[in-house]
Amino acid sequence: VFDHVVRAPEDPILGVTVAYNKDPSPVKLNLGVGAYRTEEGKPLVLNVVRKAEQTLVNDSSRVKEYLPIVGLADFNKLSAKLILGADSPAIQENRVATVQSLSGTGSLRVGAEFLARHYHERTIYIPQPTWGNHPKVFGLGGLSVKTYRYYDPATRGLNFQGLLEDLGSAPSGSVVLLHACAHNPTGVDPTPEQWEQIRQLIRSKALLPFFDSAYQGFASGSLDTDALSVRMFVADGGECFVAQSYAKNMGLYGERVGALSIVCSSADVASRVESQLKLVIRPMYSNPPIHGASIVATILKDRTLFQEWTIELKAMADRIISMRHQLFEALRSRGTPGDWSHIIKQIGMFTFTGLNSEQVAFMTKEYHIYMTSDGRISMAGLSSKTVPHLADAIHAAATQ
Ligand code: PMP
Repeated sequence: VFDHVVRAPEDPILGVTVAYNKDPSPVKLNLGVGAYRTEEGKPLVLNVVRKAEQTLVNDSSRVKEYLPIVGLADFNKLSAKLILGADSPAIQENRVATVQSLSGTGSLRVGAEFLARHYHERTIYIPQPTWGNHPKVFGLGGLSVKTYRYYDPATRGLNFQGLLEDLGSAPSGSVVLLHACAHNPTGVDPTPEQWEQIRQLIRSKALLPFFDSAYQGFASGSLDTDALSVRMFVADGGECFVAQSYAKNMGLYGERVGALSIVCSSADVASRVESQLKLVIRPMYSNPPIHGASIVATILKDRTLFQEWTIELKAMADRIISMRHQLFEALRSRGTPGDWSHIIKQIGMFTFTGLNSEQVAFMTKEYHIYMTSDGRISMAGLSSKTVPHLADAIHAAATQ
């Protein structure tokens, strides 16, 4: 009965790794994957995560019962505190409904389905470009997806004027997706002053901000700096959505641990919103997994472990920043034509190189370097050893 089923295309991001795995070359390099690698090119489990896991294993009172539909209570409280700030008035006033969800993706999806059921405006504006899964998550979640201008290929920076114009002409009430920091795939973020202008525009038009926070602490190395945008929007007393992921900043990719927080106008609204979130979650996956959230809660509630986490997080962020500088210098020393300063200006895990799809194909064929066809490279996949190979490939692609 399934003879008619046609083969689906490989996911454009995960497909890069599939192609990489098939390549027998010893010099092959995978810069497609959005996961941190050490200088030795290995995945990293943070020490603090190992310690938290040990604590959990040693605690014989722990059982494997189901969590409530909304997840682990401690985890939810601590997650809201982490992104909104310990002194956030919204938290003190009990105006935040938080549910544990399946990493960033699951949190976005729960948010989308809640909006589709309970919000009067069904259109969400997402940046152009954005993470490839966004349009699908929101579209299948029941919203109609439109884009706003974000990236300017000419400057390899923000198209701030275009952004203001597009959000300025969005119908009042529309939802606006914002990357809290380290915009994926461009690595281009608004400055604090630009964020303030965006905030004023969003509030004056009664648009609803929906933050995707997948890189808190991972971009600048500071948890507070990377949460500034979100906190500006919560400080004004208005409503907003925040989807958090612990994939990158705690290296918990496969544990699928994240949270959705909805900042509401009052404690009463927040508790009604939470009751409706349960109705979204129950038929979708019933309740979230216990292990990853327990790791996060163990780290966030222990002063010493928290401190250790911030140090390990900063080390990851610093290694990525150092890769930016090394790649920039390597291109400069080769005299590669073009202005490559965007490599050090952009932030977070990715550099949007500006290489086109033919150049990317050339680099894959001739140099066995794998990346998405939009020219996005994961700086976390680079090491001091592999920078020269990448610089040679970019140089060849830019001069051929
Ligand atoms: N949002 C953005 C912007 C991302 O880059 C990612 C991960 N690539 C996610 C959400 C979701 O990640 P996860 O579901 O693994 O937390």
